[in-house]
Amino acid sequence: MDIELSGRLRKLPPYLFADLRRVEAEARSRGVKVIRIAIGDPDNPTPDPVVEELCRAVRDPADPNRHRYGCDVPVEQFPQAIRNFCKRRYGVTLREDQVVATSGSKDAIAQFALAVLNPGDLAIAPSPGYPTYNIGHVFASAVTYQVPLLRSNGFLVDFDAIPLEVRRLAKVLWLNYPNNPTTAVADLDFFRRAVEFGRANNILICHDNAYGENTYDGYRAPSILQVDGADEVAVEFFSLSKAFNMTGWRVGFLAGNTSAVRGLRTVKDNSDNGTLRAIQFAAAKALDSYERIVPPINAIYQKRRDLVVDALNASGWNLQKPKATIYVWAPVPEKYHGSSAAFAADLLERTGVIVTPGLGYGQWGEGFFRISLTYPDAVLAEAMNRIVKTKD
Ligand SMILES: *Cc1c(COP(=O)(O)O)cnc(C)c1O
Repeated sequence: MDIELSGRLRKLPPYLFADLRRVEAEARSRGVKVIRIAIGDPDNPTPDPVVEELCRAVRDPADPNRHRYGCDVPVEQFPQAIRNFCKRRYGVTLREDQVVATSGSKDAIAQFALAVLNPGDLAIAPSPGYPTYNIGHVFASAVTYQVPLLRSNGFLVDFDAIPLEVRRLAKVLWLNYPNNPTTAVADLDFFRRAVEFGRANNILICHDNAYGENTYDGYRAPSILQVDGADEVAVEFFSLSKAFNMTGWRVGFLAGNTSAVRGLRTVKDNSDNGTLRAIQFAAAKALDSYERIVPPINAIYQKRRDLVVDALNASGWNLQKPKATIYVWAPVPEKYHGSSAAFAADLLERTGVIVTPGLGYGQWGEGFFRISLTYPDAVLAEAMNRIVKTKD
């Protein structure tokens, strides 16, 4: 039987990498050795202390609940570690009801839309941007207004450029700094303006802080929760995925506005059963030891960032080194007339190197491409060699 799938699935954006996949298959069949530097998923393993804590907890004979639903027998140490982390790292004091553990930010962002949006509601998401904001809106039958992130504005949201009608109707606004895919960072003053915008327009500011710990050259990214009164109009999504090499573990947390936190908790109570207790113990361990664990991880990315940016700049680009994230974001060369798909396809054709076309992150990502630094140094070096050699 051919089942008719829901209308909301038909509303999801098309899979923009399909074309690239076809070109990749063709290149492989011609014998080209393809190198993919497109996906943001850390190659290095989770640090030992975190893995050891997982193993200890999952075996602990003194814990009869170690196999049970993580929501029914929660690990007190995890929310405690979250609050300690926010205090140590950002100087932000959070009450218990301002924090909820998540199974990673992607899941939580999609679930969160169901907690705060009604059918037909308007929600603002940046373009280019992480696709899950819009996907959550589609699942909640809400409507996305795309706010452009422009290079001329440092890829920051320009609040003044959001039309009055949109401000009046919108219920939420998504932000993400340090930003994927543009690598832009925002200072505390930007977050002050965001909180002010939220308060003035009665819009919940949802800050996706997935890369707050992936920072370089001594830069430290602020949290929107550092702004006075932020918890009246803002929430922040944190993830252990990128900071601690823990993408597969599925763990993070949401912090901020109490009613919004309660809303996500309710959706979660009714649709998932929480994270394995041993993972919660290990996540607490990671947060408790971030001062020791994070710097060696970032040292690796910083070196790779230098390798990639130096190579691109030696072949005609003129890029600043990003202060944060695990990406490099660059404009496509002029001869492609701004078509990121044409550039990516041609690069693959000529060099076997696969990058992500910016259009995949929304219409305002067009004209750029993204390289991920989550590949071994030798792989990135080989990819850059090929790009430098074939420049024309
Ligand atoms: C990777 C990423 C996430 C998702 O992280 P998980 O916690 O692994 O789901 C969320 N937002 C952005 C911008 C990301 O790049």
